[in-house]
Amino acid sequence: MGWLDTVEYEYRYKCAEGHVSVFEQHDCDRQPRRCIECGESAEYDGFNPLHLLLRGKVAYEKNGRKAFRITDGNGNVRHVSATKEHYMETGDIKPSYTPGYAKALKETGREDLLAAQSRDEIIASRKEASKAKVEIARKMKKAKDAHAKQS
Ligand SMILES: [Zn+2]
Repeated sequence: MGWLDTVEYEYRYKCAEGHVSVFEQHDCDRQPRRCIECGESAEYDGFNPLHLLLRGKVAYEKNGRKAFRITDGNGNVRHVSATKEHYMETGDIKPSYTPGYAKALKETGREDLLAAQSRDEIIASRKEASKAKVEIARKMKKAKDAHAKQS
């Protein structure tokens, strides 16, 4: 028994009148059922696609840099570089590259370039964060002013 066995599918049944009835069940023997709307016999018509809202973090690499694909469980997906992820969690700047790419950069003496790229990325995310802070402060002031006006 796997977790898939506990999933209920939505099975569609159609009667002669064209009403569609949906039944949630684990599996389906495809026997005719009663139409929910008119009570007449309804034939099996197929099943609805199952939307799995999984939460997860998948590591991948792009152009020698490590990144994550993060799924929040509500259907939202975001991509974040490992460098940025590390900075957000620890506040430290630690470039995250694949071993092969890091080695190639070392061999060609372009390590400085790597560090600079990470710095630029961190600076950009800091700017993003302070912009968000300013926006929150502006909204709070607006709410405070509105409250003061009321009383
Ligand atoms: Zn019907």
